[in-house]
Amino acid sequence: MSETKFVAINEILSGNYTDKHISVRGWIYRTRSSGNIVFINLRDATGILQATVKRDNLSDEMFEEAKKTLIESSIIVKGTIAEDKRAPGGYELRVDTFQVLQSAEPFPIVEDQSPEFLLDQRHLWLRSQKLNAVLKIRSTIVGAIHQFFRDHDYIEFDAPVLQPNQCEGGATLFEVKYYDNKTYLSQSWQLYAEAAVFSLEKVYNMGPTFRAEKSKTSRHLSEFWMAEMEAAWVKLPKLTEIAKKEVQFILKQVVEKNSPELQVLDQDVEKLKHIAESEFPTITYDKALSILKENANMKVPWGKDLRTIEENKLMEYFETPVVVTNYPLEIMAFYKPEDPKKPKTALCFDMIAPSGYGEIIGGSQRSEDIDYMKKRLRETGEDEENYEWYFDLRRYGSVPHSGYGLGVERVVAWICNLDNIKDAIPFPRTMNRFQP
Ligand code: ATP
Ligand code: MG
Repeated sequence: MSETKFVAINEILSGNYTDKHISVRGWIYRTRSSGNIVFINLRDATGILQATVKRDNLSDEMFEEAKKTLIESSIIVKGTIAEDKRAPGGYELRVDTFQVLQSAEPFPIVEDQSPEFLLDQRHLWLRSQKLNAVLKIRSTIVGAIHQFFRDHDYIEFDAPVLQPNQCEGGATLFEVKYYDNKTYLSQSWQLYAEAAVFSLEKVYNMGPTFRAEKSKTSRHLSEFWMAEMEAAWVKLPKLTEIAKKEVQFILKQVVEKNSPELQVLDQDVEKLKHIAESEFPTITYDKALSILKENANMKVPWGKDLRTIEENKLMEYFETPVVVTNYPLEIMAFYKPEDPKKPKTALCFDMIAPSGYGEIIGGSQRSEDIDYMKKRLRETGEDEENYEWYFDLRRYGSVPHSGYGLGVERVVAWICNLDNIKDAIPFPRTMNRFQP
């Protein structure tokens, strides 16, 4: 006997199966019956199809089964596809065979449940149309990042997850017992990537990153994915150009591949397309402060980092992401060098997304001055001894080099128009949640 061929729902909805007799499998998304007819919205990974079960078209036994089977049951149905304007997607399956694979218990998720409840039920909520769409877009974004760097001859390079040092400040380190010692979960791939550029010149990576963020915001996860790059011979202006091209490439890929999903998420496809084709401006931190002061009468004292409220205000004056360079040196990590042309500021940048999604990329040129870096580490109570291997990179053939990290979930949240970064990752981890 030949194996049954199952047709994917998106293929049916694209009109290729009209009047054909086919088999479809999936899960019951919605169901309602009246008298001698049952309307089942059947979902698979690719879409939702109305399956219409009429008593006259199949055995009594099958009809009764179709009538009583609950949502999220797994089923196989066979029948003929017909065009029907009233059905979602414009087609329906006229069922003549109905088979239950597993008859579901009453599903715990019903309409209008709180975000916390949905997070408790995350393993089941992954089936929602919203998360189905987000996860498809996330996959496109991850694929685009790999493709972007590979197309530009970057080598994928992996760093350890268990690391002896901090990179972005001790306050957010997760400590891990390591035999009789202690170590930390990676806050960044960067320090190891800096070792790699003296061999490979251009490297990138995308991997899980851990920060014990102690404040509750809609933008911070404790475990997130960071896509990082590091390149020899690259200085700040070139670095910001690479970052802009990467984000434009990501947007173009999503617009090309995911417009149905963007619609599910109420995201404006044309707007994203326009952004992908626009120039992203570069301004300095000083300029950002003057925009805030002149347009919004917001006075940020020079030397303070931009807070969420200020980033959001600033972005009201732009429709595309904006690169902000030259933040005050003092608030920057130890490896960021001073800009000789703009003293007291660092050769660094953040890229800020529009529509209140905040910083999506942070990057910089890397200091080559061992004494300066040691001084900065001492100021923050770090043991400079632990960084000797890192200083070796400046002792043996150092060259200018730079890199940046893009927060994958920040980009997913922005592109998918999400209220909270927690929906940008399948199983979010935050200060208050590490289950399921
Ligand atoms: P923020 O000021 O928003 O906390 P950061 O300056 O600590 O960000 P970087 O150290 O520059 O961030 O990290 C690079 C990128 O990683 C950021 O631009 C952001 O997109 C992302 N990122 C940083 N921390 C988090 C987090 N806790 N959750 C999700 N993404 C993050
Ligand atoms: Mg941070």
